[in-house]
Amino acid sequence: MRIAVYPGSFDPVTLGHIDIISRSSRLFDKLIVGVLNNSSKIPLFSAQERVNMIEDAVREYPNVEVQSFDGLLVDFARMSHATAVVRGLRAVTDFEYELQMSQTNHIIAPDIDTIFLTTNLNYAYLSSSVVKEVARYGGDISKFVTTLVRDKVLDKYNITAK
Ligand code: ADP
Repeated sequence: MRIAVYPGSFDPVTLGHIDIISRSSRLFDKLIVGVLNNSSKIPLFSAQERVNMIEDAVREYPNVEVQSFDGLLVDFARMSHATAVVRGLRAVTDFEYELQMSQTNHIIAPDIDTIFLTTNLNYAYLSSSVVKEVARYGGDISKFVTTLVRDKVLDKYNITAK
């Protein structure tokens, strides 16, 4: 069974993330979305809230599981019996950080490989931070996230949907 993990902060999950999940779920027998709990940034949503929003968005993919984790990604991958880590690449700006991370992970865990899926052009500009920024100032985020995520983000900022 080929298992991969797709790790990230997902604060919150966007349609760009969901596109990567959908495409990588076809490449592996099982895909585990790993919600990172020990980011240096203070998240808008708790790990459990982030897991719940992703679970809602991926219900149509039977081979996708969502879990939160802390500690090292390679430890989470090993514990999940994964042989691959999936990451999404949007622009050159992602590349340097992703290259460094995948090379570091490969040194500490040579049995686990990182594969990169390039972003769907429709979502190339999209990030969780953009979603939060637009929502905070009252902009419409319904083209960026699922309806549930939109409502949760608006709730956090005490904004009523237009
Ligand atoms: P992190 O904080 O680990 O970068 P993110 O939640 O921002 O986590 O993103 C998780 C992964 O999804 C990263 O590999 C990121 O490059 C990728 N990603 C984020 N947004 C998009 C998008 N719009 N299209 C494709 N990949 C994306």
